[in-house]
Amino acid sequence: MVADTLLPVLFISHGSPMMALEPDETAAFLRTLGRDLPRPDAVLCVSAHWETDAPDASAPDSPVTIHDFYGFPQPLYEVAYPAPGAPELAARAAALARGTVDPDRGLDHGAWMPLRFMYPDADVPVVQLSVQPGRDTAHHLALGRALAPLRGDGVLILASGGLTHNLREFGQHAVDDPPEGYAVDFEAWATKTVETGDLDAMAGATAAPHYARSHPSPEHFLPLPVAMGAGGGPGRVIHSAWIHGVLSMRAFAFG
Ligand code: ZN
Repeated sequence: MVADTLLPVLFISHGSPMMALEPDETAAFLRTLGRDLPRPDAVLCVSAHWETDAPDASAPDSPVTIHDFYGFPQPLYEVAYPAPGAPELAARAAALARGTVDPDRGLDHGAWMPLRFMYPDADVPVVQLSVQPGRDTAHHLALGRALAPLRGDGVLILASGGLTHNLREFGQHAVDDPPEGYAVDFEAWATKTVETGDLDAMAGATAAPHYARSHPSPEHFLPLPVAMGAGGGPGRVIHSAWIHGVLSMRAFAFG
């Protein structure tokens, strides 16, 4: 792929696995996004649902679909997303990230749920990359910077997490409840940080207002600094929605 069709780097909030059975406005956004973007040669999905100590890239030729959730309706466990893998991309991503490859890792729902709306024919090869919850935000910004050269190779870097993600409070709300004020405030902080390209503010995210309540654990936040690092500059809002009163579904594009 040539430079004038350089793909953006994306951060998306993937929300609840139920979106796979009950497509909502975010599913509609993802369908349109997949149609509107230049077609990538492959997707590198940085998923909140793969947590490791050091960067790891999935390298099977044919990754299995992982149903990494509990207590959902049976049809959700029968969803398959048979996209091919891309072992050469996995090796390159691992080298750039100074990480390793995992020859067996399949696709978790952080990857397959958005991708089955973006690329419903499952015909774009997919590699996953893990996040490191034991490492800080600066590490994830640097990880994104290290991956940036892949954009020149027609790779869509898709960072999949959640802009706010308090699962305990999630269970206390109906799907269409209005958003809680603290979550709205954190979304606004993150949006300002992205739109101004403020890497120092992003590196200090854990000190931001309501970070701890928005992210009782960091794994759904960490794809955002990876995307910002890979994008190398300010980003823009490309989708906004709320579910269950505390889950911001906001998405950003960088570059
Ligand atoms: Zn998730």
